[in-house]
Amino acid sequence: MQLDVVTLSTAVSLMLLMGAGMLMLVFRFSIRRPSAHANSVRFWSVALGLMGVGIFLISLRGHIPDFPSIAIGNGIVLLAMSLRLRAIKMFWNQHESWMVTAAPATLWMSLCLVPVFYDNFLPRVILVNALIILLLAVSIQVTRRCNHDRLKSAKWLRDSMIFEVMSKIAMVISFSLTGLASFEAATKSNLTAIYLLTLIISTLATIISAFAMIIEREERLLREQALRDPLTELSNRRAFFDDAGRWLEKHAFADKPFAVALFDLDHFKQVNDMHGHAAGDEMLTIFADVLRENTRKGDFVARLGGEEFAAFLPDTDIRTLEAVADRLRTDFAERALRKSGGLMTVTVSAGIAAGRSGANGLEQTLATADRGLYSAKRAGRNRVRDGHDKAVTSQHDEMDTAGCVIQVLHMPAASAVQ
Ligand code: GH3
Ligand code: MG
Ligand code: MG
Repeated sequence: MQLDVVTLSTAVSLMLLMGAGMLMLVFRFSIRRPSAHANSVRFWSVALGLMGVGIFLISLRGHIPDFPSIAIGNGIVLLAMSLRLRAIKMFWNQHESWMVTAAPATLWMSLCLVPVFYDNFLPRVILVNALIILLLAVSIQVTRRCNHDRLKSAKWLRDSMIFEVMSKIAMVISFSLTGLASFEAATKSNLTAIYLLTLIISTLATIISAFAMIIEREERLLREQALRDPLTELSNRRAFFDDAGRWLEKHAFADKPFAVALFDLDHFKQVNDMHGHAAGDEMLTIFADVLRENTRKGDFVARLGGEEFAAFLPDTDIRTLEAVADRLRTDFAERALRKSGGLMTVTVSAGIAAGRSGANGLEQTLATADRGLYSAKRAGRNRVRDGHDKAVTSQHDEMDTAGCVIQVLHMPAASAVQ
């Protein structure tokens, strides 16, 4: 089968233009967060569009005057490659001056005004491709160095750019070795057709990677938002039950110990009423900090809602948790007083309970901790109570038989524990 170079170039141009349009659509419907990421999508889309136009101008050689096809066509391709590098840098919050972005295309256009250079096919091919390879090499380096959030799709982009570099190098070497001296000879050569086929593959791969990078980052952001409490930046209720549920599932047959604590700030309504909602919010963030500082990396801590917090400590017995919860309680009261310049006395009550991964479910253990919390409140607040204590249990039974409705305030939604 004869591969027609003009048809293949037109296909590449069309693919690029469609990619540009689709990226614009992604921008239109994207959550546009963070803003650097939105700007990157726009530049990326413009770069693809320009690349399509540039390649189309080059493929029109013979049908339009030479200068627009050779000088302007390649100039646009170089500008597009620089813009794509700029977009990649922007995606990782790296900035670049416009001088740097414009430099390769400017150098090319200036040389095109020099007849010795402009009239020679091979030096033109070598220079334009050397500049493109340089831009690709920097793009690969930036993608490799800046991918701190380890996006899988960024690795695809890097690999597709490596493929692009390799096919360009192979093309330049084969053109030089076979001594192709004119554009006409090149268009008739199977080498050009093969190169264009690799260009189609790498173009598709880079377009797909660009989409994937944007979608992967936005999906991560949304997932993060769905699982994090925005005020304290702790896990939210859903994340807490997901994490604890996963740990219990993993160790279901190992029968490992775990302990849970429920915290509820005391008289918090009054705190808000007396000092204002903003001061109340500050107390919540202080408690979150204290909670983070007093627990280990593998523990799960969360704001369940309002002024209620929870901690799930894997491989921990009740006495250890009691000590942790009590330290937390005193640290919080002390820090709340200090941070408010001695104005606010805010305390916290806690209920604790222990379970085993093979036996007690999370719900049951939380219900026990909740009984401890209820008892701590009734006993005067600012204390930690073990929900397993006989006194707590009998007090609870008393309340129950007295006809009081005791609610397990912290029971997860049925779906959350699955
Ligand atoms: P108790 O000691 O019995 O727990 O009393 P309490 O006042 O803390 O309990 P209550 O449930 O009556 O009130 C909880 C208060 O927490 C009411 C609500 O305004 C406040 N609150 C809930 N979420 C927030 C928040 O995000 N910020 C602030 N500032 N206050 C909040
Ligand atoms: Mg409460
Ligand atoms: Mg409270």
